Amino acid sequence: MSSTPAAKIATAAEIAARRALTRATKPIPCYAVDQIPPKKGGEALYSELGTLVANNKAKLVQELEIPARDAKYWDVQQGQLFRIICSHGPQVADMNCWSLSNPKEHFYSSKTRQIHASHLTTGDRLWSNMPYLRPLCTIVHDTIAYGWDEDGAGVHDVIGSRCDPYTHHLMTEGEEFHHCCHSNLTRACIDSGSLAEEHVHDVLNVFMCTGFTHDTHQYFTKPSPVQVGDYIEFLAETDLRVAASTCPQGDVSLACGGGGEPVVYPLTVQVYEMNDKDMLKNAGWEPSQVSQYSRSHGLK
Ligand SMILES: [Zn+2]
Repeated sequence: MSSTPAAKIATAAEIAARRALTRATKPIPCYAVDQIPPKKGGEALYSELGTLVANNKAKLVQELEIPARDAKYWDVQQGQLFRIICSHGPQVADMNCWSLSNPKEHFYSSKTRQIHASHLTTGDRLWSNMPYLRPLCTIVHDTIAYGWDEDGAGVHDVIGSRCDPYTHHLMTEGEEFHHCCHSNLTRACIDSGSLAEEHVHDVLNVFMCTGFTHDTHQYFTKPSPVQVGDYIEFLAETDLRVAASTCPQGDVSLACGGGGEPVVYPLTVQVYEMNDKDMLKNAGWEPSQVSQYSRSHGLK
């Protein structure tokens, strides 16, 4: 009987050399954004999309207000623009989105984070989960454009999941709280008639300023820099159902569960349609398509 010889256990010197190699190697970004297919219609089109409303080239077709400590859903047709607007005071929003025709296809924050960065801004795309993996929408205007501060913080993160009543229950010895973003989004899902709690997923933390501490690498927040008049604007790359919650933490200037009563404001949502209906088509844009991978996975 032959058997595979056992791998030789590395010597202490080999282990030390391997550790030293890791520490000495500069970070290697896993995904090069320039390797993903370019945006259909080109960067010039996407730059222009962020200016259409200001230049009266798009008209308002839908507007709604998300009350404080609550969530709303809205539908957006492919090729329409939508905004989440700071309309009353500094406030963050937890956003979910789904393919309108298939609730199983939703925003996939971890792959979006791997492809782009821990925080999103103009030009970044919100990708959907497997087996679909396509852009659901693209950010065309971010009035905050915070970049990174010296603590490594940025705005609009895809690292936090969402505040939820289960963690709250765990950390408060059983307290019941029904206005966490997860519960707010659950109510909005049920209100939509096509979604339920199981469809709530990890969010885009709109306007939220977060990072990881340099020393202990813990998730931290700072007061959001958002001010009345700021907004984030998206192009719908396919027909979407979108929902957003006004987080009960308000501008997140207090630690979760850290006491104090956060001030919470409503937010406004607007959906716009382009005046020139052929603008996107003429530029070569088309709705995103789900992944064409065969899904054979090496199975015989
Ligand atoms: Zn929240």
